[in-house]
Amino acid sequence: MIKKALVCGAGGFIGSHLVKRLKKDGAWVRGVDIKRPEFSATAADEFLLLDLREEANCRAAVAAPRGERFDEVYQLAADMGGMGFIHAAECEIMRNSALINIHMTHSAANAGIKRYFFSSSACVYRDMRPEEPELSEEEAYPALPDNEYGWEKLYAERMAMAYGRRTGMAVRIARFQNTYGPEGTWRGGREKAPAALCRKMAEIEDGGTIEVWGDGSAMRAYTYIDDLLDGIILLMGSDLENGVNIGRQEYVSVNDLVGTIEAIAGKTVTVKHIDGPVGVKARNFRADRIAAAGWRSRFSLRDGLSRTYPWVKVQVEAHCK
Ligand code: NAD
Repeated sequence: MIKKALVCGAGGFIGSHLVKRLKKDGAWVRGVDIKRPEFSATAADEFLLLDLREEANCRAAVAAPRGERFDEVYQLAADMGGMGFIHAAECEIMRNSALINIHMTHSAANAGIKRYFFSSSACVYRDMRPEEPELSEEEAYPALPDNEYGWEKLYAERMAMAYGRRTGMAVRIARFQNTYGPEGTWRGGREKAPAALCRKMAEIEDGGTIEVWGDGSAMRAYTYIDDLLDGIILLMGSDLENGVNIGRQEYVSVNDLVGTIEAIAGKTVTVKHIDGPVGVKARNFRADRIAAAGWRSRFSLRDGLSRTYPWVKVQVEAHCK
């Protein structure tokens, strides 16, 4: 029997890549989103344009063709962006993403879905000092996320788990690190730091100046899209319950991130630090639960950015000159 999978958020960065991976692995895939993928045609067998804030649309999304049932539902739809968007659009994030998750979880459980994946975030954790030891998954509690996006994710995690307890739906929850790669948002206000810095680097001549929000000391880890997809597939097939961190543990400062992109671009630039939303000072969390399921990161930051920078550069050359 061919596996049938539903991917919500299939018009977005991670969702569109996930559709490609599931197709490559032999599944029949329905993609759902409020918009089509921006950078290439969807690989899904069927693509429905639906606003998942509406309960009726969530019911339609989880109803497989010919009265059959999806074997797996992947819920990645969210009102989402980098730190600039997260700070500017608190109300939209809390309303839109909560509505999507409330209706999707309820509809999937009512439709008798057996396996449900929810994309949570490392933003559920509190702020950290750079030298603090790694946080484990349980240390998301007592909860103190740094932003409302993180609070919404925690609520949605809890809701999915509650429906899982009531209906027996196997719920798998990944807490993603900051993820990057080709075909990710690179301009417009929702882009995240790696894509934004690749764009800024591509836009200037050798010897130019780029602006970086904050003093560049914030510590982060970044995960290349193919590593994340490996983790999603492994987690969905595993028996790991509750939130599971997925992310490469290569922690660098924002200044180091700029330096790596600078080297890949073959430019020497001056960095000008300006005021802007920076987010937490540090992130440092364990990845031993997903590692126990067999996950290993295959792409160093340098490898991943070497695949991402040329793609962003092509976009900049096509759209900005
Ligand atoms: P993305 O913005 O590219 O994808 C999200 C998709 O959800 C978009 O295509 C958007 O159109 C869709 N969507 C939004 N509102 C919708 C609605 N009302 N109805 C239907 N679709 C709607 O973001 P992404 O980077 O691909 O993230 C995917 C998931 O992973 C999100 O849940 C996000 O919170 C989570 N996540 C991402 C990262 C990251 O670094 N990219 C990190 C942590 C968690």
